[in-house]
Amino acid sequence: MKKIAVVGAGISGLSMANYLEKHKIDYHIYERRKKEDLAGHGFLIPQEGMDYLYQIIDSELLLKHGNFLKKYTKYSHTGKVLAEKNLDHVFAISRHSLISLLAQNITPQKITYEETIIFDDLQNGKLKLSDGTDIDADIAVISDGSRSRIRKHIFKDEMMRVVRESEVVNIIQNKEIANSIENDFMKFHHEDGGLTFGILKLSDDTVLWYSQFDNQKYMINECSVENLRKYMIEIFENWHPLIPEIIQKSDYKNVHLWNVYELEKLNPFYQENTVFIGDAAHPLIPFTSQGVTSALKDSLLLTKYLVEEENIQTAFSKYEAKRKPEIEVHINNGRILLNQFLLPLNQQTENILPISYK
Ligand SMILES: Cc1cc2nc3c(=O)[nH]c(=O)nc-3n(C[C@H](O)[C@H](O)[C@H](O)COP(=O)(O)OP(=O)(O)OC[C@H]3O[C@@H](n4cnc5c(N)ncnc54)[C@H](O)[C@@H]3O)c2cc1C
Repeated sequence: MKKIAVVGAGISGLSMANYLEKHKIDYHIYERRKKEDLAGHGFLIPQEGMDYLYQIIDSELLLKHGNFLKKYTKYSHTGKVLAEKNLDHVFAISRHSLISLLAQNITPQKITYEETIIFDDLQNGKLKLSDGTDIDADIAVISDGSRSRIRKHIFKDEMMRVVRESEVVNIIQNKEIANSIENDFMKFHHEDGGLTFGILKLSDDTVLWYSQFDNQKYMINECSVENLRKYMIEIFENWHPLIPEIIQKSDYKNVHLWNVYELEKLNPFYQENTVFIGDAAHPLIPFTSQGVTSALKDSLLLTKYLVEEENIQTAFSKYEAKRKPEIEVHINNGRILLNQFLLPLNQQTENILPISYK
């Protein structure tokens, strides 16, 4: 089997490394951040994604680090119940925990942190270390995220656009709030549309809350922590009392503002010996809640075809044929959910689950 270089140690790169490890395929993974630098949000993962994770992470260990949500409730901003739906095995986990778990199985010699990989178009698309040294690999698996620089180098005409939705996400330690929300996924919606507040429990004492906002209506010019805090307090002042209470009681050391991007049109998922997985192949907007499951499925299937097929191009082409149509469904669902979100509440479809399930 050939030697593989994986660029990026997010969910897609690390899961790829885990599947390669399982099949004893030679690889090395490169990541530009520091090992311990794991800021970020949390994920909702449906059963399908969990099934992929159980193949590479000890299930008991995984379940200890997150929480199954039982029910989704859609509220108006004042707390009137608009719709309810039982959730079938939707798991909530912080990005930090999932990345740490996926990194545990990687032999330390096979991962290099603090190394930004460069793609050299002038030398037949060779991957290089930041000091200019060539990387010795037969296959390049690119998992460098939604704004992939390597993808932009290869597909120069691609058009990325900012999505009309941004998110403030915070993870807080507070047992009292965690107890009060049980295993519910609660989401409050402003009647004019374009503004929501969601709360869910990650563990006995950890809660994730987030606000999705129409970034054409609500402008946050500067994203300092103090600004985000002020914004949250002002905007949600008159909402159901649970929300201002949570916002006031939160500390803001984990708060983050996300701007979301999407590709106008998907690129091919591979070119020559370079193949893309996860957000680098197909940025998905957070509304779909399918970014992680899709990244896991990409790595699982790409590894399967690399094991089964002698010829790399055949493996890549089978991978693309299997994955692209499914991703297009999620992109479409994501756009429908985005349009719903921007509408006034009384024009939104009732009972809609804010997740793109197949
Ligand atoms: C606010 C928000 C909420 C979300 N909620 C959910 C959810 O509930 N459920 C869900 O399934 N998905 C969710 N998603 C989507 C999910 O986060 C992504 O789909 C998933 O994390 C993609 O992982 P990835 O590994 O492909 O990319 P990334 O996580 O972006 O990882 C890319 C990695 O590559 C590294 N890198 C970049 N360039 C280089 C380079 N040149 N050299 C070396 N390393 C490099 C980066 O440092 C990074 O570690 C959400 C996203 C956002 C923004």
